[in-house]
Amino acid sequence: MVITHNLGFPRIGKKRELKFALESYWRGDSSADSLQHTAQELRAEHWRHHDGLNLLPVGDFSFYDHVLDMSFLLGNIPPRAQHWQGEALDNYFRVARGRSAAEGSVCECIAAGEMTKWFDTNYHYIVPEFAADTRFQLDAAALLAQVEQARQQGLPVKPVIIGPLTYLWLGKAKDDSNKLDLLDDLVKVYGELLQQLAAAGVDWVQVDEPILVTELDDAWKAGFERAYAALKSDQIHLLLATYFGRLQDNLELACALPVGGLHLDALQARDEVEAVIAQQPDYKILSLGVIDGRNIWRSDLTALLDWLEPLHRRLGYRLWIAPSCSLLHAPFDVEAEDGLPDDIKSWLAFALQKLDELKILGRAINHGRDSVSVELAANAAALASRRSSDKVQNAAVRQRLQAFDLDQTQRQSPYAQRAEVQKNILQLPLYPTTTIGSFPQTAEIRATRRRYRQGEISEQDYTAAMQQEIRHCIEQQQALGLDVLVHGEPERNDMVEYFGEHLQGFAFTRFGWVQSYGSRCVKPPIIVGDIARAQPITVEWATFAQSLTEQPVKGMLTGPVTILNWSFVRDDQPRRDTCYQLALAMRDEVLDLEQAGIGVIQIDEAALREGLPLRKSQWNDYLDWAIRAFRICANAVRDETQIHTHMCYSEFNDIIQSIADMDADVITIETSRSDMELLDVFDRFHYANEIGPGVYDIHTPNIPSVESMLKLMRQAAQRIPAERLWVNPDCGLKTRSWDEVLPALQNMVEASQRLRAEASAAPSTTSPAVAAAS
Ligand code: GLN
Ligand code: ZN
Repeated sequence: MVITHNLGFPRIGKKRELKFALESYWRGDSSADSLQHTAQELRAEHWRHHDGLNLLPVGDFSFYDHVLDMSFLLGNIPPRAQHWQGEALDNYFRVARGRSAAEGSVCECIAAGEMTKWFDTNYHYIVPEFAADTRFQLDAAALLAQVEQARQQGLPVKPVIIGPLTYLWLGKAKDDSNKLDLLDDLVKVYGELLQQLAAAGVDWVQVDEPILVTELDDAWKAGFERAYAALKSDQIHLLLATYFGRLQDNLELACALPVGGLHLDALQARDEVEAVIAQQPDYKILSLGVIDGRNIWRSDLTALLDWLEPLHRRLGYRLWIAPSCSLLHAPFDVEAEDGLPDDIKSWLAFALQKLDELKILGRAINHGRDSVSVELAANAAALASRRSSDKVQNAAVRQRLQAFDLDQTQRQSPYAQRAEVQKNILQLPLYPTTTIGSFPQTAEIRATRRRYRQGEISEQDYTAAMQQEIRHCIEQQQALGLDVLVHGEPERNDMVEYFGEHLQGFAFTRFGWVQSYGSRCVKPPIIVGDIARAQPITVEWATFAQSLTEQPVKGMLTGPVTILNWSFVRDDQPRRDTCYQLALAMRDEVLDLEQAGIGVIQIDEAALREGLPLRKSQWNDYLDWAIRAFRICANAVRDETQIHTHMCYSEFNDIIQSIADMDADVITIETSRSDMELLDVFDRFHYANEIGPGVYDIHTPNIPSVESMLKLMRQAAQRIPAERLWVNPDCGLKTRSWDEVLPALQNMVEASQRLRAEASAAPSTTSPAVAAAS
């Protein structure tokens, strides 16, 4: 018998029921009881979908985030939330999002926990907080209640927890202490937890330790040995789960830990399976994650069986199979998609279909392929149709990429030379002001777009309405006195989806939501096939905007790396090649904008950093093709054309060389929250091009004062010569209201004017350029 099991399931619900229940509770529109009731029903329903599997995950459900659940389970509650008198659930929401419900006594705002990305996924977790005096105290009631609920449903339960090392690794010491010093205390609480689970009749516990696929130093490796030696127990079996990568130099360690079994991401670490089998002691289970838990393509079941059947003959009961990681990162059910063409739909597997695939594999291994011959034939037919479909293969696109010289990606002239040319054309003042692209997306704009999509208004009426918005936006910017204007992006629902919808090779779902954080979900487009641009996408909007003013209007595009990183990407060719195809398509758009007289073009690479691999040793490979893709896209323009790029994050010390290699004339970045700390990198690194450190934090409704922005710009001017500084917000303004944006931008323009006045009174005192670092 091969055992089939699942590591975790999307908790948000088929129709995002959890999202709506949470938001209703937070608004004060419904009770905690009704929220709990929704949660219970969702869990019950989700478990029912596991019918036919041998073990199902329990404890993967969460009201906000499973890492935060772990913090509460371990009694690691931030000091600012420790003396709460109210309901525990309300305190949990306070730590998650700064407040519980919108109104009433449960609000009592505190600083929300910091949020950051869960490994290399787009899921965000609440960072555990530690200090030297952190003490842990078990509170397993919520987990035990879920175990009990699953029991009553008569199900084979496997609680899922985050392991002690990964839990520590994910957190942040708020003082100078070493997190690892807390390990022994922490492990005691894990020991108590395991005892309680054993007492509740649990046999197997899944302990997630995904940090085993990252680079660990000796102290962390020793921590693993110590912790798992201490947790060894006769009463309960631990399945140590790794995912998102290969074990590499941690393989020996992972195999030697005294646990009941090891789960391996057999998509990314398939080549390690034999080494694990050779090294693991005979008593251990090997769980193979054979179904891709974080992408949306159907598996090749026959190929998997060809591999798994002989393995099963060798390992017998010791072989388990599962998805590679929790299905948290997959949308719910492809059957719900009524707008997808049938062929594309048949190529896709969301969470429910992935469970089905697992069940088919299990039945085939246990009862022979004949027992699932119909399912296997359907699977093979779907894969064959995908391989040969002209929605996937576009010969012209492939030929073009093949013929393209990937080393010919430099601008005509070096930056210093073209900067002179651009200066003469653009005639901008010192400290020029601009924005990042979008302006407030008002309810009317959204309504107009919706009506157009639903065919309720004609194309002409839609265009006229959008042009009206653009006109308004340009007028506002002129009145404010901004220097480089934007059209405001009213026609865009989302910076990636918009371009996807206008490129060939993409498909879109209606319900393909994936949790990003808390109640927030994203619906990534799907890159199905070779990417081509049939006709210009933004040129008409940009030229219309430019026709309204003598001032430069920035053309506004999303870059290839960001489109890639925020989509579900095809799995039948390297990501690199898909990225190059995107780059060539967007390059055509850049050149068309230039041709149409748009002299400043911004190519957003908001998500460049997100694509960095988990292991630093693989960064160079990624950065090489990612930066190359940007350069393919951006650098074919004439010297006269000024290329901007924008990035949504502030830590780029470690990739500054790559950012410099993009060779954009101007880069705008997020800095306002880090107090210009990030600019420290410019003390060490000579960044030669222009830069706009975001001085207006658009993520809060607060209006930044002239003084605060002056202060930030002065800090910047200590590192970067004033001639190369721009003044701008730190991201697009689409989520803000005009009421907030106008006074904020007014202050921003005033700050810039003050800086100019100061500079002309006292000739340049900016720092000398620092010698280039490598
Ligand atoms: N141009 C986009 C905007 O202004 C950039 C958004 C982003 O960086 N996330 O909305
Ligand atoms: Zn941004």
